Amino acid sequence: MQRFQGIPASGGIAIGPAWVYLPEEPVVERRKVDDPAHEVERINQAFAKAREQIGALIERARVTAGEEEAAIFEAHQLFLDDAELLAAQQESIHVHSLNAEAAIEDAFEHYANMLGQMDDEYFQARAQDVRDVKRRVIRILMDKDHADAASLDHPAIVLAEELAPSDTIEFDQANLLGLCTVRGGPTSHSAILARALGIPAIVNAPIPLREIPEDVTVILDGETGEVWIDPPEDVVAALRKRQAKWRERREAELRLAHEPAITTDGHVVEVVANVGNIQDARQAMNMGAEGVGLFRTEFLYLGRSSMPTEREQIQAYKAVFEVMEQRPMVVRTLDVGGDKPVLYLNVMAEPNPFLGWRAIRMIDTRSDVLLRQFRALLIAAGMTGADLRIMLPLVSCLEEVERARELFEQAQGEIVREGHVAPEKVQFGMMVEVPSTALLAEHFAQKVDFFSIGTNDLTQYTLAVDRTNERVAHLASPFHPAVLKLIAMTIEAAHKAGIWVGLCGEMAGDPLATPLLLGLGLDEFSMAPASVPRVKHEIRRWSMAQCREIAQKALAMPTTSAVRQFLEYVVE
Ligand code: PEP
Ligand code: MG
Repeated sequence: MQRFQGIPASGGIAIGPAWVYLPEEPVVERRKVDDPAHEVERINQAFAKAREQIGALIERARVTAGEEEAAIFEAHQLFLDDAELLAAQQESIHVHSLNAEAAIEDAFEHYANMLGQMDDEYFQARAQDVRDVKRRVIRILMDKDHADAASLDHPAIVLAEELAPSDTIEFDQANLLGLCTVRGGPTSHSAILARALGIPAIVNAPIPLREIPEDVTVILDGETGEVWIDPPEDVVAALRKRQAKWRERREAELRLAHEPAITTDGHVVEVVANVGNIQDARQAMNMGAEGVGLFRTEFLYLGRSSMPTEREQIQAYKAVFEVMEQRPMVVRTLDVGGDKPVLYLNVMAEPNPFLGWRAIRMIDTRSDVLLRQFRALLIAAGMTGADLRIMLPLVSCLEEVERARELFEQAQGEIVREGHVAPEKVQFGMMVEVPSTALLAEHFAQKVDFFSIGTNDLTQYTLAVDRTNERVAHLASPFHPAVLKLIAMTIEAAHKAGIWVGLCGEMAGDPLATPLLLGLGLDEFSMAPASVPRVKHEIRRWSMAQCREIAQKALAMPTTSAVRQFLEYVVE
């Protein structure tokens, strides 16, 4: 038996025979051609066929996975119309006299590399889409366009280096028991699709694919990221039991996903989602989120060469607001810094990006960025009737909130004078993710309508652990008693001042943290859409009295491991 550890990407346990998927990459031949018009015509024909194939995939995705998955392939169609990509192919053919296959390879690879080098995980994942379309067009040109994935003809667990989004959809769903890839992150399309199809998936598992015998038994635990190859009978039996339990629980969670989360003693808790674009918003609605507790707006600003205009921003916000249908909508203002350079804002690589010029700190020299964002958000909320709540990231001193509020009021005044419909009431809040704000929460609570605790950053700043550094990852836990104390102080100060508190770090989606956070008095839990049904389910298990006792005990503990062990014991 061999056991590997990967990253969990879609929950559930799969047990079945291995099906190793190693599609042959077409080897592109590079030739000089003397009839460029003929090569252009070949590309035109290949694109027409690719459009047809992708059209069929869109339909298939719509039926098997859903609307938002179909949108992935609609985006593939757009690459075929992309003016920059088209210009690059034409140049290879007309100026460098290259054959059609090589022209496609160069143009698409250049584009994919550009996306792949971006720091943002979202854009890195999009590089995979570009390569998927490239492979499709080249295969058509080389007359090798049969789908390998379509040959999965018996129920099995697919093991692959990495999967293109189209592979995932082309597999016969009835035969797809689970997915495991050697590369890829939890936000790659295969992971997103696996979650939509409801099959267990693991990414980034270091499996030696070429050494895996066909049909050997494999087990995937999509909750923990563990993979077993050829496990002994007792492991299989234990995991079958867990699989049955998991299925039962998941079905119960999904059945009640759209019901409110109420503790056994009648305390109603708000469960909302973290979203970064319109697809996430749709998933949030499907999973029963009662609103959005963190809308990360970075997607609008990254991967481009100029600041998004007010109009563009209004369109983008409106689209997400409409999906959420007037549910509470917490929008965080731009949060970029030296770890995600944005040249047109003069955000450049810094030696200590997490301690540098980032997020709300831009207000000193680039208040125009924030003013434009406030205006666009207010106009979009006025147009849609959204319940807008604005949130400032990385606040560390009171002056930042005062200055931002002035700008916000300026934006409100401007849009009314210009004749726009202004939203009736907009809450103005801030994130608590720097220890200084938690320590002085009583003062900040006088200046805002709500707090949302960002435990991802609060943990890194409290414990002095870089959240991106794998070597210190074992130290970065929000269950460290020092972080818990800051969370407790924040909630207490907020409630004294009569304002509400949410939490939108990863901790909110961890069922282990649910009773603890309830016991500390948290009002709103905001998490990845897929976690909403699970956390709602967990909330329904507890009474507030039990939770308060758990929280008090945890707060008195001296170490992270003591807290975790205690919670594992009470939650199980
Ligand atoms: C956080 O820091 O906890 C948070 C939610 O923000 P981000 O992860 O985007 O920094
Ligand atoms: Mg943060």
